This record gives sequence, C-alpha cells and structure tokens, in this order.
Amino acid sequence: MPRGLQVVTDSAEETRILGASLAPLLLPGDVISLTGDLGAGKTCFVQGLATALGAKGPITSPSFTIVHEYEARYPIVHLDVYRLDSFQEVLDLGFEEFLDPGAVLLLEWGDAIEPLLPRTHLRIELRRTPDPEEDDKREITFRPRGEEWVRKLFGMRSTAEALLDAASSEPGEGSRFVEVGPTRDVRPGTIRDEA
Ligand code: ADP
Ligand code: MG
Repeated sequence: MPRGLQVVTDSAEETRILGASLAPLLLPGDVISLTGDLGAGKTCFVQGLATALGAKGPITSPSFTIVHEYEARYPIVHLDVYRLDSFQEVLDLGFEEFLDPGAVLLLEWGDAIEPLLPRTHLRIELRRTPDPEEDDKREITFRPRGEEWVRKLFGMRSTAEALLDAASSEPGEGSRFVEVGPTRDVRPGTIRDEA
C-alpha cells in the first residue's frame, strides 16, 4: 500500500461492467473519486455502478447541475465539481453534507478537491490510451486509499474478470488486470526515443 490495479477496457460497455463489479462491495459512507479528462469515461463508470446499485432511470452527467441524487440500495450522491472554481464554492454547496455516512458519494473531478476528501476513499483514474487508433480504449487505474479499499478491490477484480469474460467475444486469456506502483505507471511505448 498504496498500490493500484489497472485494466484497459475496449468499450463504454466494458467500463460500465467495471462500475457494476464494484457495486456489491459498496457500503453507505463510501467515497469514490473519479479523475480523468473530459470524455475519459467517468460518467460512464458511474452509470454502470449506480445502475447495478439499483438506481432507476437515466444516469447523466451532473456537470451543469453539479449534483444528482439517486435512490438505490443506498442513496447515491453523484457530484461533478468541474464547474466549481474554488474549494470555497465546493464548501458553499454543502460538500460536508454530501459526505453523508448514509450515502455513497461518487465524485467526478475529485482530484480537484483532494484535500477535502476523507483519508479513506477509492480513487479511480481514467484515461484514453496514447494510440489514436484506439479511440474506444480506456486505461482505468484503481487506487485504494486505506486498507479496506485494498480488500474491496480484490473482490471487484474477480467479479469484473468473470463479467468481462462473459461479455467478450474472445476467450479470456488470463487476468486483464495488472498491479501498478504507487504513482501513475508509464506504459510501454509511451516514451519516445530521444534519438
Ligand atoms: P467523462 O464523464 O469522463 O467526461 P463520459 O463518460 O461522459 O466521460 O464520456 C465517455 C465517452 O467516451 C462516451 O461517449 C463513451 O461512449 C465513450 N467511450 C468510448 N470508449 C469508452 C470506454 N472504453 N470507456 C468509457 N467510455 C468510452
Ligand atoms: Mg462526466
């Protein structure tokens, strides 16, 4: 610890499956912080997760309204702080109340307010892969903050392996997850030779 678990998804549907795989492990009070550029797939991941938790109706980006709340197995607070300019704005919005011990908090652009997050949370980093040919691939890295998230990620991994395998047209070729170090890994092929 801290360690990370990384997987590359090949489609939006696979990213939703990953989100769904996390759902059975969540408890009220859990905080998940999603990071990544526009279009990285943060909302997509939340769609899979919230739907698997029983949220009804379309799960859409709260980037304009800042917050959406869904009724599900537990109340879900889906927050997007992209449009907020300062910590103060986030606090004025009632961020402390969103850290409701009875609800699950899913936070887009959570890295922008990292100092406001509880010590124990799950950070998920999403990004496009460097290859422009791979428009539908996303590299997704799960970074547990706190031991309980290490345990939960083990559970998510086996569920995700099974569901991704079942949804894939190609037979599974072993684990799709790799363990990564404490900082963002540089994937092979992303460093150009100086020569
Ligand atoms: P964000 O919330 O990070 O801005 P969205 O989830 O709203 O991103 O959008 C992601 C977009 O990328 C969607 O249009 C989705 O269909 C597309 N997409 C393509 N491939 C993937 C993938 N592997 N995972 C997630 N989204 C993908
Ligand atoms: Mg979004």
